[in-house]
Amino acid sequence: MPRIPLVLIAFLLLISACNSPAAESDQAADLILHNAQIITMDEGYDDQQKVEAVAVKDNKIIGVGKRKELRKFKGEHTEMRDLQGKTLLPGFIDGHSHFAYGLRMLVQANISSPPVAEVRNIPDLIATLKAHQEKRNIPRGEWILGWGYDPDQLEEQRHPNQEELSNAFPNHPVYIRHASFHMGVANEVALQMAGIDDDTQDPVGGVIVRDEQGKATGLLQETAQGLVARLIPPIGPVEMLDLISEGQNYYASFGITTMQEGLADSLAYEVFKEAAALEQFIIDLEVLGSFRNLDYYLKEGNFGQYNNGLKLAGIKITTDGSPQGKTAYFKDPYKTKVPGCIHDCRGYPMVPSSYLQQVMTRCYDQGVQLFAHANGDAAIDMLLDTHQKVTDSLGLPSDEQRTVVIHSQFVRPDQLDRYIDYGFVPSFFTNHAFFWGDTHTANLGPERANFLSPVKTADEMGIIATNHTDYPVTPPDQLFLLWTSVVRQARSGNIMGKDQRASVYQGLKAITINGAYQHHTEDIKGSISLGKLADFVVLDKNPLTVHVDDIKDIQVMETIKGGYTVFEKK
Ligand SMILES: [Zn+2]
Repeated sequence: MPRIPLVLIAFLLLISACNSPAAESDQAADLILHNAQIITMDEGYDDQQKVEAVAVKDNKIIGVGKRKELRKFKGEHTEMRDLQGKTLLPGFIDGHSHFAYGLRMLVQANISSPPVAEVRNIPDLIATLKAHQEKRNIPRGEWILGWGYDPDQLEEQRHPNQEELSNAFPNHPVYIRHASFHMGVANEVALQMAGIDDDTQDPVGGVIVRDEQGKATGLLQETAQGLVARLIPPIGPVEMLDLISEGQNYYASFGITTMQEGLADSLAYEVFKEAAALEQFIIDLEVLGSFRNLDYYLKEGNFGQYNNGLKLAGIKITTDGSPQGKTAYFKDPYKTKVPGCIHDCRGYPMVPSSYLQQVMTRCYDQGVQLFAHANGDAAIDMLLDTHQKVTDSLGLPSDEQRTVVIHSQFVRPDQLDRYIDYGFVPSFFTNHAFFWGDTHTANLGPERANFLSPVKTADEMGIIATNHTDYPVTPPDQLFLLWTSVVRQARSGNIMGKDQRASVYQGLKAITINGAYQHHTEDIKGSISLGKLADFVVLDKNPLTVHVDDIKDIQVMETIKGGYTVFEKK
């Protein structure tokens, strides 16, 4: 066998190295996404000019740039995905919602009117309940439950009655809840099980509604709901575990790659831990532990660490109620009658400030992030004053806690200045402009109503703000949410503060990069940037270029988490 000179071998090796595809080096990408309109949400890139493609390896982004610049990442096994001109964005980050409570909605029929669902009249409502019974295979004798009907949106302009529900379902107990969750209608079987007849006395704080002949119509208001609700079996841990996949697929279908559980009791958190151990999470879940279980969570520890997609993000405390229910706590009174209140009706705090101070002290002292629900400006004042007191007494800098003010719906402009001083992160809820904008105008007057959830002003002041759906209060649809932040149109057509309409880019920041900041994950999420996680959403149209009215109709085509497709539109 002739000997080959070493020099020649070295030369041949060199040549082959130069020609070899990147696949033989460590640089080869698993996936290159190209031919897309890419909105990176990273201000370091000029999206319109430079970014045409993204390279992904393992679960991270290893290349962002022009297609020819990314050629070096193309290896033998690299998948080249042509997005055919669709729009690529970082995956959406849910600013605030209730994943666990939403799971309960999965086992109930959604009987809302457009745009949430398709119920336009009472026959539609019955048909939706029937379809739900069939889909879930609900046997005779078991509960059929629905949520979200609204008489104002039905052609009949009235509540369905027990007779209509009983005729359709003579052999099942049925209970359907009004969109406000403050009332609902039961059928005859359910009324009998609850022991309600025409002569039953109204419970304190509630009404069993009757017709002119004194016959119970099935409509139960406020505490009267409890007579039926207490008979409905709750979702147990096993059923909850079963529903987790279905629940996160629903979130993923809206382009969400990080979702939130906005008020978890210890039982729910135990189920989440079990799901994480079983590697059930395909998208990430940020959990806010309930302040009622503070001892449990502080003992649990491990705040801020992902474990198979599950993270304990912080502690949630509720400081007031809801503005549409007139239980949000304001400095100035409501302008319409508040049930159960005679004068100076400003709502009320849900917790005394001394209690808030206690919870805040324990959290700040241990470096645990606090998420405080506050809707009205008086609740926000209480939060701001308590924050100052607690940081003073602990000797901490007052701007490093990244305290999140969930809703911040009726924050005053002067309070936003204090948000800057304290580094507070407001998580706004612009869907209120559409769903309750007209109600707020009547209850609060135009000045307060038109400044609701001021995404634009906050951004202009340099405040990092997020925006959320509070699902199941409103659907977790992020494009609809983007539309409400940009258009702020109420159901009546009234625009809730023309000067508060955010730009599309501001609206997008609130559901991407700012969401990452809120959850202390801006180093790994929220934008298409080198080294961050390969979390993306693919849209059929570009929100920056369509007419603003059409933003709510943009479709999510695909959701990608860590380089893997977790949702694809069929
Ligand atoms: Zn909430």
